[in-house]
Amino acid sequence: MHRDDAMTILVAGGAGFVGSHLCETLLQQGHRVICLDSFLTGREENVLPLCGFRDFRLLRHDVAQPVVLSERLDRVYNLASPASPPHYQADPIHTMMTNVNGTLRMLELAERDGARMLQTSTSEVYGDPEVHPQQEDYVGHVNCTGSRACYDEGKRAAEALCYDFVRAGRADVRVARIFNTYGPRMRPDDGRIVSNMIVQALRGQPMTVYGDGSQTRSFCFVSDLVAGLIALMEAGRAPATPVNLGNPEEFEIRELAQMVRAMVPTTSPLVFGPLPEDDPKRRRPDIARARELLGWQPTVTLSEGLPQTVAWFTAEIGGAAGLATGTTDEGRSRADA
Ligand code: NAD
Ligand code: UDP
Repeated sequence: MHRDDAMTILVAGGAGFVGSHLCETLLQQGHRVICLDSFLTGREENVLPLCGFRDFRLLRHDVAQPVVLSERLDRVYNLASPASPPHYQADPIHTMMTNVNGTLRMLELAERDGARMLQTSTSEVYGDPEVHPQQEDYVGHVNCTGSRACYDEGKRAAEALCYDFVRAGRADVRVARIFNTYGPRMRPDDGRIVSNMIVQALRGQPMTVYGDGSQTRSFCFVSDLVAGLIALMEAGRAPATPVNLGNPEEFEIRELAQMVRAMVPTTSPLVFGPLPEDDPKRRRPDIARARELLGWQPTVTLSEGLPQTVAWFTAEIGGAAGLATGTTDEGRSRADA
């Protein structure tokens, strides 16, 4: 599909889970998409189908390094950062520098072309929150020296950079604070809860619940998130503050494990292990701001999105997929050491 108002859009981190869905949607909308990715946690199979689009270009590059682009950009989405705790803790200094230097590079590109920029921040900026649900004006409760700090503080520094560019009039920037998102194209060895529960259940392996499983998260299906990201980017006026994007339905982790067990015929037992350091106890987004400013809210419930995700992993694991548990446990023991 081609359109007269087609834009040239850079998606940094476009070969990852969320990024590949975003690239696909933007291409389907008729835009030209440049996907910049180092393939740290992204996968070629996520973007190979997109190479069939004439208007798709793949650039293997580290976002934190200087980049020369001949195209004039209209939009810059920055999603480049590992997102799963075992992955972002595997090389914490690289995670921090990806978020700080990478965001600076993307802001500079946006400034060069007068492009709009959307930064993907995270609910992790609230840390282990003392207020519930989390509103955007809550300043957070982050351990700045702990094993999650490389990510939490990297994302907080990135937000600071974004608003310094805004205050200086150097770029039009929008910041999305994304809450736990799941769906097809997560790596089987991603290590986050939804992929771990499904992969372990499908393989008949013990399903690893950290702590007693009473901690909560709120799970957003990836198509809802992509719609929210595009709505935020295309909002006529940039919101003056970050905007939470997530699904406010809140679940205990052991509840999620039981939902997966009800969907996957499995003999896997639930096994309980130690809670990782600084693991947030409760998390649920207040999305009043997204509703009001963007007219956005999620449409896919967990009981609708989970079966689609199970179906995708069932097909994926039938192939040559990797193993979730090994990466997770290795990542945790490194992080906890
Ligand atoms: P992901 O790991 O699947 O995707 C991240 C992508 O960034 C990968 O393709 C990876 O290769 C790339 N990347 C990492 N470091 C890079 C670097 N230095 N240079 C270039 N590319 C690099 O994770 P995701 O879940 O798709 O997350 C995408 C973005 O959304 C991340 O910035 C993450 O922090 C944010 N986010 C995601 C969630 C979620 O639940 N999925 C929640 C909060 C925030
Ligand atoms: N978790 C778990 N078992 C796993 C992976 C994660 O019990 O195999 C827990 C984790 O300790 C946390 C919650 O599930 O309390 C969500 O973890 P995830 O890594 O998905 O995201 P985040 O902690 O960044 O929200």
